Amino acid sequence: MSTTQHIPMVDLLGQYQRIKDQIDRAILDTVATTAFIRGPQVRAFEQELAQYLGVRHVIGVGNGTDALQLALMALDLAPGDEVVVPAFTFIATAEVVALLGLKPVMADVDPHTFNLTAETIEAARSPRTRAIMPVHLFGQSCDMAPILELAQAHGWYVVEDNAQAIGATYTFPDGTQKKTGTMGHIGCTSFFPSKNLGCYGDGGACFTDDDVLAERIRILANHGMKRRYYHDEIGINSRLDSIQAAILRVKLPHLDDYNAARRRAADGYDAFFSERAEIQCPQRHPASTHVFHQYTLKVPPTRRDGLLEHLRHRGIGCNVYYPVPLYRQQAFAKWFDGQTLPATEELSKSVISLPIHTEMDEALVHHIADAVCAFFDQA
Ligand SMILES: *Cc1c(COP(=O)(O)O)cnc(C)c1O
Repeated sequence: MSTTQHIPMVDLLGQYQRIKDQIDRAILDTVATTAFIRGPQVRAFEQELAQYLGVRHVIGVGNGTDALQLALMALDLAPGDEVVVPAFTFIATAEVVALLGLKPVMADVDPHTFNLTAETIEAARSPRTRAIMPVHLFGQSCDMAPILELAQAHGWYVVEDNAQAIGATYTFPDGTQKKTGTMGHIGCTSFFPSKNLGCYGDGGACFTDDDVLAERIRILANHGMKRRYYHDEIGINSRLDSIQAAILRVKLPHLDDYNAARRRAADGYDAFFSERAEIQCPQRHPASTHVFHQYTLKVPPTRRDGLLEHLRHRGIGCNVYYPVPLYRQQAFAKWFDGQTLPATEELSKSVISLPIHTEMDEALVHHIADAVCAFFDQA
């Protein structure tokens, strides 16, 4: 394999080529119906995903960020109410809180699983806390049993950001299993192309078992309109379009295989890195399956940026998710009181994510892992 070949973080073209006939037919058939918006494909996909997840309602929306916003809009929250979010996540989780005039309160994460825990939420709560937003980061569930117990004790809403973990399963201490995104009041996901279940543009969804919340989200996503041109409240316009739904209907039956392929690639990486003192493999929590939206290593902070450069020089895609704790983002300056969170600080300096996708073979994993090891060998 040539060292100058570009190895992307994800291989969407390779994945498309394996299902091209079905995808092309689904797109063309949808175009021929001209039911581009709120067509039968959307309802069918919502039902199929609800069945897969084991949840009563799935509401397709425009993207994952809208799903999070609609979830918060559907709850009876008032301006200034506090919502606990992780400080180590993609900005969307906290952004929608601020946009709605609520107060994002950032909590630290577990330094090994990268996820919120009951302890870090406990440290961030106040009498004004009304909701929490656990993010199942990089493809693995937060340890939800103690988090749900804490939320229940305080009467908080739980909105799960499942944009990175669709298809992951969490096992409760009593053996009950649930899919991520179906454990809180509302779960949200994104169908951004590179997500584990990605469409060919923007898309997202909310999930809930609550009939009233489901109806409320549907109305809010459609201009606050229940009966045509009668608007009961201020909503937004956020829809999953029919072509994206048709594509997702082709891809959903492959989701478990896609996640298994990601897991195989992660197992391959782990085997290469487990003996290396400088490299910490992503920890797998025993209560969650891991669907590896990202494969994220921790390396010594003094070496991280050098490793990035080393890999990029060899044409190997790699990225830092996330280089800046949310409370240090300019956008959140007005909420930053100078308090920093130790695990979030450490992670922002030490994490690096390697290519992981559905089309990886052993040789590719080997090639990338070799390049990582070579960096540490040369020093
Ligand atoms: C991708 C992502 C989102 C936002 O999804 P979009 O569809 O891009 O709006 C939200 N939260 C997390 C954790 C994400 O990874």
